[in-house]
Amino acid sequence: MKKITVLGSTGSIGVSTLDVVARLPEKYRIVALTANKSIDKLLAQCQAIRPQYAVMVDTQAAEQLQRELQKSGLSDVQVLSGIEGLETVASLPEVDQVMAAIVGAAGLLPTLSAAKAGKRVLLANKEALVMSGQLFIDEVEKNNAELLPIDSEHNAIFQCMPTHKRMYLPSIGVKRILLTSSGGPFLTRTLSELGAVTPDQACAHPNWAMGRKISVDSATMMNKGLEVIEAHWLFNAPADDIQVVVHPQSVIHSMVEYDDGSVLAQMGNPDMRTPIAHAMAWPNRTVSGVGSLNLFEIARLDFEAPDFERFSCLRLAYDALKKGGSSTAILNAANEVAVDAFLNETISFLHIPKVIDSTMEQMAVVDADSLQVILSADAEARAIATDVVKRLRK
Ligand code: NAD
Ligand code: MG
Repeated sequence: MKKITVLGSTGSIGVSTLDVVARLPEKYRIVALTANKSIDKLLAQCQAIRPQYAVMVDTQAAEQLQRELQKSGLSDVQVLSGIEGLETVASLPEVDQVMAAIVGAAGLLPTLSAAKAGKRVLLANKEALVMSGQLFIDEVEKNNAELLPIDSEHNAIFQCMPTHKRMYLPSIGVKRILLTSSGGPFLTRTLSELGAVTPDQACAHPNWAMGRKISVDSATMMNKGLEVIEAHWLFNAPADDIQVVVHPQSVIHSMVEYDDGSVLAQMGNPDMRTPIAHAMAWPNRTVSGVGSLNLFEIARLDFEAPDFERFSCLRLAYDALKKGGSSTAILNAANEVAVDAFLNETISFLHIPKVIDSTMEQMAVVDADSLQVILSADAEARAIATDVVKRLRK
């Protein structure tokens, strides 16, 4: 029986994880659930799952959850709060696997705790790796943790690689990574049309139902930019050996090209339960609830090169990766501020790359060799980006 903590259990990935676990009660048990402040959702999950721990980041929400749990006869669920609560459940001795499905930089500390405690880290929270890069990889290696990608593209690449070990790619015959992208909801919009798109339009992804932040990232293609950085750290691939391929059907989830000309692809319906079940069961396989891929219905697969002019966030991410050091933490923080401002209708869609570019230009890049440096780059970038947002206000 494998025991699991689900960080961010009330989100899109969290709910898909609970769905997979519910299909396999003899193999997996959920020990801890966490949420930011959605009490009702976490309460309902506690009632269905009866975990040992429930964490609400917000202290008042935690107190209220405790009262609600008592009312429904679940006073044996231990309620914790704050980042410390998240770190506690990410590193419990009895836990084998930690699903890291908090969105954004807020997931860094608990995800890092899971790595330090030597857990199998099921990594959905790409922002944590984008921010901390080498530091995160070092903690995984030092503590014999296992890092399994949940992001569908990276999970696909993991499946197509000749070894699960992080190696020098030329030594294992790998030439490059082909990272697929649906192109998001605005693939065919012109630059001038992009100026007027709304948050709801940006969140209406053609192939995937996801949280609002990653949905906007998909629309700007910053999601793909963050994924290029994520692939760099997970697979030890230089930026120039990661090619983004726009593939609107989202059937091929990514590919690995070998020196002999072979290209291996992983395919499947666009449903996050496949990578979740894969990473939980690896190296074995298990059911996930995802139906068979109907190739006759899909009929065709299309591919095109990304457009760095309309989707300049992708270029900004490649630039940050090449600069290295703290620049990816700065990119991530500025993006989070910009996306939030767009979702609140403070700035327009095309202002998002402007906020990021301006923040990057105003900050010096330093070595990202400690958590303190990374967190202070994150904080400074947020302050600068917030100022840029104020100046750009619609
Ligand atoms: P979501 O917004 O649906 O859920 C986010 C979860 O994090 C919720 O449980 C929420 O309570 C929690 N949370 C939010 N802010 C928090 C904070 N400050 N402190 C602690 N917890 C907080 O997001 P999602 O779509 O499930 O995405 C989660 C992560 O997985 C993101 O990093 C995203 O990039 C990644 N991811 C998602 C998908 C997808 O299909 N949704 C695919 C690939 C990767
Ligand atoms: Mg992805």
